[in-house]
Amino acid sequence: MATSPVLKRDLHPTFLAVFRELKPRTPFPEFDIQFYPYAHVTSTVRLREGKVLVRMSDLLETAPEPVIEALAQILLRKLYRVRIPETYNARYRRFAGQKDIVAKAHLIRQIRGRKQITTAQGRHYDLHQIFDELNNFYFQGWLARPELSWARSASRQSLGHYDAAHNAILISRIFDSPRVPRFVLEYVVYHEMLHLRFPVRMRGSRRCIHSAEFRQEERKFPRWAEAEAALKTL
Ligand SMILES: [Zn+2]
Repeated sequence: MATSPVLKRDLHPTFLAVFRELKPRTPFPEFDIQFYPYAHVTSTVRLREGKVLVRMSDLLETAPEPVIEALAQILLRKLYRVRIPETYNARYRRFAGQKDIVAKAHLIRQIRGRKQITTAQGRHYDLHQIFDELNNFYFQGWLARPELSWARSASRQSLGHYDAAHNAILISRIFDSPRVPRFVLEYVVYHEMLHLRFPVRMRGSRRCIHSAEFRQEERKFPRWAEAEAALKTL
């Protein structure tokens, strides 16, 4: 999904203050802090060429200052590998878990997510047909069919995606082509079907998406190595 920044609130003072606390003698780096219309209450931080890039969900835009401070503490401590006191985690989680924030996130997911869902019948391949065949062959037909759709864009970053909030599998358009062998597309759909089979487990605040069990099942795909190799050349 294409996302663009929506900067409405200046969080620089908060991040600079936290940076000063963590690194009293280090000169300030440049900060680039932006809100993005993510579908989840989420945020990331990374360093690029000495610049600190902070990206956060616009759901946090209206968060009270102590929550922003807790988030700045969490992100910068992660970045500089400093222990995060539980009080910051707790404060942030309390905000993110609030009913209205959760409800708003859910609503936004629905609106933003729905736009992605187009059709299962592509120009070249029909996802319903592929799903049903794989379901019969690998799962004895017992997987309930989720919403299946070709994604709007021919993304190379996201080849396939299972969206649990919508119970939908989205597949990149790059596979809807006669140049793509059917088994490669089947493998991508099979991977997403394994997400139905092995629901995401939370490990702390991290999502453990591909368990050992998942990876083991994935290798049962007969042309697994060939398919993996083909995906790398896309
Ligand atoms: Zn996956």
